[in-house]
Amino acid sequence: MAEGLIFDIKRYAIHDGPGIRTTVFFKGCPLSCWWCHNPEGQSFSPELMVWPDRCLKCRTCISACPNSAISISNSSIVTERGKCEVCGVCTAKCSANAREIVGKIVSAEEVMAEVEKDREFYGESGGLTASGGEPLAQPVFLHVLLNRCKETGIHTTVDTSGYMERKTLAKISSKVDLFLYDLKMMDPKKHKLHTGVSNKPIIENLKMLDKLGKQIIIRFPLIPSVNSTKANISTMCELVSGLRNIRRISVLPYRQLGVDKAKRLGKGVRIFAKPSDRMLDQSLRLIKSYGFAVNVGG
Ligand code: SF4
Ligand code: SF4
Repeated sequence: MAEGLIFDIKRYAIHDGPGIRTTVFFKGCPLSCWWCHNPEGQSFSPELMVWPDRCLKCRTCISACPNSAISISNSSIVTERGKCEVCGVCTAKCSANAREIVGKIVSAEEVMAEVEKDREFYGESGGLTASGGEPLAQPVFLHVLLNRCKETGIHTTVDTSGYMERKTLAKISSKVDLFLYDLKMMDPKKHKLHTGVSNKPIIENLKMLDKLGKQIIIRFPLIPSVNSTKANISTMCELVSGLRNIRRISVLPYRQLGVDKAKRLGKGVRIFAKPSDRMLDQSLRLIKSYGFAVNVGG
């Protein structure tokens, strides 16, 4: 029985590929992008999330924690992450829903049961989207899910950073109808600095998928002071110009969506400015000048 670690299943999703979709969020990613809007998708383990604004200061969690990881300091409930073993005891005791374990192991059957509930809404174009985190980082589980979808006529989309071993990606790609493929930045050193990994395999894998004839939508997260320069966008467009199966480029303006979530996970967080309307407009015009269809959002 194939099992995987996920942190959410979103039904009736309309920004994760064509039509109405069921999006499965895989937990764990080999990248650690500074601007990540799903920081709960980075770790390959379940994590404790805490909402201080919901806390009633009843102190129930303090006495419940078997590891003495929770205390009160300056009238605030404090969790010592180094002591926390993510056992979930405090989450079960908290009546204010101020504590939650993010991430659970599920079977392919459980996921497909959720997907089947949405089948009647898919119509001609909808289906399952595997997102994350990085779905390709759990290749066996992903392959089983995609296989089940193809056996039952469900359209499949994989939303990916493209960072994975070439052979495995080639094998999985036979079950994928559409890739949503991130291109974050073209300079290899900057890419490594901002994401923790080289962009070389990402670019090589993109070329391979294109050669295999896979349908691809490029996703470009636009982040001021990180990847918004004319040089970066032009280099990306030149790369994509040499490919044959790119449907369009989707520009995703940075929106600070991950900031609060990172704080709830007790993680450090970097905050960037949102792109101005002028910056977004200039970026769209530059991409269009290469002859690409372009849109804003998913
Ligand atoms: S149990 Fe919940 S509401 Fe009570 S102190 Fe702990 S976090 Fe706050
Ligand atoms: S998840 Fe378990 S170890 Fe962590 S703070 Fe809650 S009760 Fe303590």
